[in-house]
Amino acid sequence: MEVKIPTYVYIQRNAINKLGKLLERLGSENAVMLTDRIVKEIVSKKVEKIPFSGIFFVERASILEAREIVMNLGYGDIDAVVGIGGGKVLDVSKVVATELNAEFISVPTTASHDGIASPVASFKENGKPVSISTKPPIGVIADTEIIKSCPKRLIHSGFGDLISNITAVKDWRLSRDLTGESYNEVAVAIASMPAHLMLNKAIEPDFKLENDIETLLRGLIMSGVAIAIAGSSRPASGAEHKFSHALDYLGFGAGTHGEQVGLGTIIFEYFYEKTYNDGNWELIRNSLRNVGAPTRAEELGLTKEQILEALIYAKKIRRKRFTILEAINPSKEDFEDALKQTEIVD
Ligand SMILES: [Zn+2]
Repeated sequence: MEVKIPTYVYIQRNAINKLGKLLERLGSENAVMLTDRIVKEIVSKKVEKIPFSGIFFVERASILEAREIVMNLGYGDIDAVVGIGGGKVLDVSKVVATELNAEFISVPTTASHDGIASPVASFKENGKPVSISTKPPIGVIADTEIIKSCPKRLIHSGFGDLISNITAVKDWRLSRDLTGESYNEVAVAIASMPAHLMLNKAIEPDFKLENDIETLLRGLIMSGVAIAIAGSSRPASGAEHKFSHALDYLGFGAGTHGEQVGLGTIIFEYFYEKTYNDGNWELIRNSLRNVGAPTRAEELGLTKEQILEALIYAKKIRRKRFTILEAINPSKEDFEDALKQTEIVD
């Protein structure tokens, strides 16, 4: 299996100034830019010298939106798709680049999840989450100056999505031991080492996530690389992601992806600690608290009943992906107990 991972990764102030040079280096002669109107205002001065063949505004995150852009481009000889924006823009850009068989350059303007560099596009179709495999970006340009000015809540979400790798890789290891699933130590190391690094920083009393955006971005980009190496989201998505998907399916609460998986990480770390003596849920909870991410159901607009329903529903999601949910099959009472112990509900 050939693994494609980003070759050009820039994480620094004013990194966006490197975009023109990167396109030249790739020999691109026919690049298009996908963005949204707000981002365009912010970056237009910085990219005005780049001779894009077209600029498209992504209005909705949907497969249809991507197809429409591809049709508009008429399958012309576009050789590079530059996505500049948040998750919505990047997801659509990934699909467009893949359909056109063009290079994809990811220019994130937020640090809200690990989709920045992953070969997976996530959409909500008719309210249900759908994932599509795409080609990974050849380049990632993360301009910390731009990302610093995105809403804090999005940065906190990115923190949640990064530390969720901690329980995700435990689920993979559990499956290796109990079901014989194939396992990739390199992908696990790449996904979990930045997550632990970030976690250890975040429990320091005077830690400010806003001052350490680079570590967060590096971790999120590495998560994408781990996904590319594994050939699936396995190293970055376990039971805590099933729980988040369950909330989305059921339409409960108002959390972002990263906030939901962060809460899920507390819950499943609790089960790992309790069942296998492998984990420290308090450390996870304290780190989330310290960065300002939600650690209680009510902060996400969730009732105790909703969160219990989502945890039970999570058992039905993607059953083939073996996690601690399948291994110990917690009862409603077990979940209730976990929520109380972890102070997620009163
Ligand atoms: Zn995620």
